[in-house]
Amino acid sequence: MIKNLAYYCKKFSPRSKSNKIGLNVSPGAPNKPILLLSIIEMVSQGQIKGNQIPLSAELIATFLKLWSRLEPLRNPDIGLPFYHLVSDGFWHYQPKPGFESLIAAKVKIRTPNIIRQTVEYAYLDDELWEIMQNPQERSILTNVLIDFWFIKKAQDIEQLLQVNAFAELQDQLQRSGGKVYKLEELKDEQKLIVRDAAFRISVLKNYNHRCAFCGLQVFDPLSQNIVDGAHIKPFSKFYDDRFDNGLSLCKNHHWAFDRFWFTIDEHYNIIVADNLREDSPNAKPMREFRGDRINLPAQEQYYPRQDSLQWHREEFLRRAA
Ligand SMILES: [Zn+2]
Repeated sequence: MIKNLAYYCKKFSPRSKSNKIGLNVSPGAPNKPILLLSIIEMVSQGQIKGNQIPLSAELIATFLKLWSRLEPLRNPDIGLPFYHLVSDGFWHYQPKPGFESLIAAKVKIRTPNIIRQTVEYAYLDDELWEIMQNPQERSILTNVLIDFWFIKKAQDIEQLLQVNAFAELQDQLQRSGGKVYKLEELKDEQKLIVRDAAFRISVLKNYNHRCAFCGLQVFDPLSQNIVDGAHIKPFSKFYDDRFDNGLSLCKNHHWAFDRFWFTIDEHYNIIVADNLREDSPNAKPMREFRGDRINLPAQEQYYPRQDSLQWHREEFLRRAA
């Protein structure tokens, strides 16, 4: 069969006696059509630029947005379609190194976190990816999905597809300076992934993608960088995603900070533990940063909050004692 637009229109339609290659979807569970709509939307907004589709926070945010409007009665679960679409033939997995045999054995990896740990990205048939680059053909595929699965909500969807859910969440958080969560808000794994990414991206932006301790800044051509958005008071205890509870730290100094090898005084100066044995022939050793001021955000409202720093200092002292 030639894999052209007509072929993928059939692929995106419901499976039936007359359409044996259609999408295999359980009645009343439009997971796959919503995932496909999410992907098409992100391609058209330039959020997915190549035929590599990781289960990113942005994809989850888009999926949750569409889901809440199209399927308000059931709970969303992006893990299901992300996993089960493989059986439809045009959706493939690139495993992460070390997980090739797990993926080849078709072990059911269905929760978002397990997928993110084992799958580098999913990718489409090359033919389908090419079709999605053409705006007219893309909108034909969108219409197939809407007409077959959500015809009653067609107008809603058109409006919804204009909204970048992840960017909107980030703007909202940026305006409020982040958020402290309640435990019951943290039950859904999907929302947690989105929340976590939004916090980290905002903290890095506030620190201009530079390590607050050593100043390191490295980008690769995909704009990935070497710093993490770290919590000062740990999220697992305090659920505090306000940006002034965040610090941008390189991998080494994130590790060191979380283990209280250094801390920060009330004037933002570095205190390094004096029980470390450190040999650092090619980089400035940690002890030589003693008393230096950390690299602070340009905007004072994002400086580390005093009660967070104090909590961290008390833990540091407790360990030093
Ligand atoms: Zn660093």
